[in-house]
Amino acid sequence: MTDLAVRFEGVGKTYPFFTLEGIDLDVPTGTIAGLVGANGAGKSTIIRILIGLVQQDRGNVRVLGYDLPKHLVAAKGEIGFVSEDLRLYASATLAWHINFIRSIFGTWDSAYADRLLQRFDLKPAQKIRGLSRGQRIKAGLMLALARRPRLLVLDEPTAGLDPIARREVLAALTDVLADEDRTVLFSSQNTLDIEQISDQITFIDRGRIVESADKESLLESWRSIRLRVPPGVVLPTLPGVMRDGGTDRVPHLTAKPFEPAMAEAFQAAGATVEAVKRMTLEEIFVAGVMRERESTRG
Ligand code: ATP
Repeated sequence: MTDLAVRFEGVGKTYPFFTLEGIDLDVPTGTIAGLVGANGAGKSTIIRILIGLVQQDRGNVRVLGYDLPKHLVAAKGEIGFVSEDLRLYASATLAWHINFIRSIFGTWDSAYADRLLQRFDLKPAQKIRGLSRGQRIKAGLMLALARRPRLLVLDEPTAGLDPIARREVLAALTDVLADEDRTVLFSSQNTLDIEQISDQITFIDRGRIVESADKESLLESWRSIRLRVPPGVVLPTLPGVMRDGGTDRVPHLTAKPFEPAMAEAFQAAGATVEAVKRMTLEEIFVAGVMRERESTRG
């Protein structure tokens, strides 16, 4: 068994108006990894490469110990995929899909499928056409999970779901990891979802990785700092500190990696440190993206 379910090394893909570049991404076996990015950041492109729908132009992709695209067929048998635009047959029932997938995958777990049907309140006799958006996502999740894939990949699984359905989907994802050999990678524009269930978080912007770390160290390394600056006081320039709002008299700063010595340096210069706070994942995401854009400008 490999310790890494996913390894991307220098992966790139070029489209006429978009380039995915230098993607290095390691997802340890048995973790939930979240990809966060704005519209068009490149999340789906990474996911499509990962599940073999698209081939990388550059770099190495290794999934569950298989090199892609070379060993795609073997890898696909062990990857479950759920996306917003699930390719289910509208006029067929859920039972039909269950039978179809069971006939293809020897790993189908009927008892688990029944539990998931109950839990998601899905009826096998229902036609896909009659399912609501939330039910459709749950149906896709059930069909993917009951195959017991070693790697579950989800593209925006919670998009457009109401809070209850969202919670059920997130809970099901957490449950998947009761078996420590399983790994989940999912994308979302919603930092709350990612914060709730991910162990490892990767921020993507404009085809590049802005930051990738385990959740705890990410939340630990960033702080927002609010200062009061009397007239005439010049703030020292400190590495890792950037202004992201406020006024010249009451600037709001972000710091990464935060060091207590930063606050001391501002105080020594004559400013008052009014607050040093931990940041939410959303605030960290925005600050990280703004920094990256600033550093690549020009
Ligand atoms: P969203 O949250 O909106 O789904 P995303 O982060 O998943 O965005 P991608 O779907 O990976 O982003 O798209 C990234 C960029 O790649 C987009 O600008 C898109 O137009 C471009 N792109 C994706 N697939 C193709 C393709 N087959 N041909 C040309 N351009 C493409």
